[in-house]
Amino acid sequence: MTPDIKPIVAGNWKMNGSCGSESMVRELVAGFDQQLQGKLDMAIFPPAILMALVASWTKGSAIAVGTQDCHANESGAHTGDTAAEMIASADGTMVLTGHSERRVDHNESDADVAAKSEAAWRAGLVSVICIGELEAQRRSGETLDVLGKQLAGSVPGGATSANTIVAYEPVWAIGTGLVPEASDVEEAHAFIRKTLVERFGDEGAKMRILYGGSVKPGNAGELMAINNVDGALVGGASLKSADFLGICEAYRTMA
Ligand code: PEP
Repeated sequence: MTPDIKPIVAGNWKMNGSCGSESMVRELVAGFDQQLQGKLDMAIFPPAILMALVASWTKGSAIAVGTQDCHANESGAHTGDTAAEMIASADGTMVLTGHSERRVDHNESDADVAAKSEAAWRAGLVSVICIGELEAQRRSGETLDVLGKQLAGSVPGGATSANTIVAYEPVWAIGTGLVPEASDVEEAHAFIRKTLVERFGDEGAKMRILYGGSVKPGNAGELMAINNVDGALVGGASLKSADFLGICEAYRTMA
């Protein structure tokens, strides 16, 4: 945690969910009670085709909704893509950019991620910019170099604590059940904080830095208590309301 920063727990559904996910979303709305709302923010990122529907189910609640990607352009000949303006017009307020699965599956570069993040701001959305090292990079001691390069290339100059969240997701921890040592998470988050402060001053000090990679109800308390861990980006455990709310519960008793 970082003093004076309200954490956020965000659920990345990846390519899961359907028009039949209403009861699960309604359970989240019901479970995200006043006390929890006072402790943390919550966001969910369903597939683009479901986002407007999910936004209709969460309407009137404190849960924010967004998509897992956007195109850099506002409109045009980009078959299959979604503009940030479309997300905003469907009541989305956030977008994930640079998730490792997009960097790998769609060859997204840091420059692509930066362009998408700026597009999100253009439409008034918050960019959740994802970075993280591969297993081989961790093994060869390159983690902080990789994170430094990704931060420099993926986070555009106009980032503020209001329009940007950084998510640190070691690629080898995503969907594997593997979680770094607490000291490694602390080191990575301290490095990210230092880099953001050097570049953005006070805004960098206030920016939320999420940890992502096999967060579950059983490990959330320990991970969320680490310095500069201002919430979680959750994949697999965001697909069941009990698990996702179980992660949020880690905050109920935190000061
Ligand atoms: C993710 O998809 O961003 C993620 C962290 O997945 P998981 O929680 O399943 O590791």
